[in-house]
Amino acid sequence: MEELIEKYALANALKYGGKANPGNIIGQIVKENPDAKQHIKTIQQQATAIVEAVNKLTLEEQKARLEALAPELLEKKEHKEHDLFAFLGVEQGQTLITGFPPEPSKYPHIGHAKACLANYEFAKRYGGKFHLRFDDTNPTLARKEFYDIILDNLKWLGVHPDRVDIASDNMDKFYTVAEILMKHGHVFVCDCDADLTNNLRYNGQACPHRNQPVEETLERWKQLKEGEVLRLRIAADHKNTTMRDPTIFRVIKEPHVRTGSTYHIWPTYDFETCLMDSFQSITYRLRSKEFELRTELHNYIQNLLGYPPTKYYEFARFELEGVETQGRVIREKIASKEYVGWDDPALATLVALRRRGFTPEAIKSFILSTGLTKNNSTLTWDDLYLHNRRVLNETAKRLFFVAEPMLVKINGAPKKHVKLNYFPSTKKGERSFDTHEEFYLAADDFSALQPGELYRLMDCVNFIEEPEDNYQYHSDDIETYRQSGSRIMHFIPKEHDAVHVEVLMPDKQVVKGLGESRVKQLHVGDIIQFERFGFCRLDSVAHGTYTFWFTHK
Ligand SMILES: [Zn+2]
Repeated sequence: MEELIEKYALANALKYGGKANPGNIIGQIVKENPDAKQHIKTIQQQATAIVEAVNKLTLEEQKARLEALAPELLEKKEHKEHDLFAFLGVEQGQTLITGFPPEPSKYPHIGHAKACLANYEFAKRYGGKFHLRFDDTNPTLARKEFYDIILDNLKWLGVHPDRVDIASDNMDKFYTVAEILMKHGHVFVCDCDADLTNNLRYNGQACPHRNQPVEETLERWKQLKEGEVLRLRIAADHKNTTMRDPTIFRVIKEPHVRTGSTYHIWPTYDFETCLMDSFQSITYRLRSKEFELRTELHNYIQNLLGYPPTKYYEFARFELEGVETQGRVIREKIASKEYVGWDDPALATLVALRRRGFTPEAIKSFILSTGLTKNNSTLTWDDLYLHNRRVLNETAKRLFFVAEPMLVKINGAPKKHVKLNYFPSTKKGERSFDTHEEFYLAADDFSALQPGELYRLMDCVNFIEEPEDNYQYHSDDIETYRQSGSRIMHFIPKEHDAVHVEVLMPDKQVVKGLGESRVKQLHVGDIIQFERFGFCRLDSVAHGTYTFWFTHK
């Protein structure tokens, strides 16, 4: 019993900063060992003595003792994060190659980043490899600029692929595979029109071409025309509709951004993506739930050709509440100037998040926190802010910015040389201001001033508003302010070498004001915190005006 008490006392002490509470421990013991009630007096005496001894130990000693006695009771905080992929049952050291295959047709948004980061982190955690590939076998959708944009976005996120492949470089391989399937009688050429095909497939009925002899298929394949497709003969009435004799090649005359007019017969997405997984030796791929029905088909094709099947796991997607993700709508709003571009601050594309001041670390921890469950979730900007704030609190310098400045004279304020920390919590680095009687205050602060109230200029002076808009110096120290003060304000001394600052808010409103001189030392891309205003990223400097994008509070 004594050992049991000690275990719980140690765990309880570690949970509460080194001090265990006997009441909690006895409660726990009785809950788990109902018989203990009979000896409750003895247990209480023992607990009091043991807790006293445990509370005398340092946190390190408590931790070491608990580790020896009952390691399972140690807080499992660190483990939880590492366990994200544990349920997939992959063993450390097992061959693991994961992949992410974007189509080079759009700006990736935070939802796409989930599929990428999940595969990348999964590989990294189990000593595996991560392959990136462009699924670009639809010439009507692939666009030249997106190969580089996607690579650049992923690099910014901290994703470094072990290999990068391009599906359209493998056309000859796709044709070879098609001919193998043809010779073994697994395919047929079909020229039923789209409506008929949809109808037949919907009703689980075979099309007239299904029993085509191999010689005829070979002959027609050689000169496949627009409107003709090559279909895989699986089962016309398969219970999984994606398995009902799916199309694997079709004719698209439009030139391709990489191969020009060399090829006109293109593999469909289903055929291309699973074969590329085989060509790239992808062993495991995590992807979003809309692919769930297709997994059977992808593994079927791999099996048919004797490739080891890729394991696929589908997770739920998440959405950011109120954020537009439909490419068509975004394009329209860019055309009508409602959005400044794909990096508009209202969007959640990676280019937008980057320009607004979100850090890759925050995006990564936010995305991984959404987990790999099958339940769709809707998250808000606030959820993302939380992760970003955690990063920026450590890295973003605090500076003064006075929005819509109002000049105030504080009569009798002494000349001072005040020092303020860039990082008040860690005290890394400081800057100073020379102050006297005149200060610029933010319009918000100015309009809040009330006669008779005591106010404080941060780390500088306390003052009081007197009748008829007179402001009088009161005292210097923060203790006096704490007794009766009603608002602490940031400021810019009138004599200070201030700079013009503009901040673009997510709703496109522009807030103008004065920034302290240290703004001049910033580089475009730096993220800082304007004290009591919010985090902002320096976006451009022109004609002496420093333009920031507002990140969040
Ligand atoms: Zn047909």
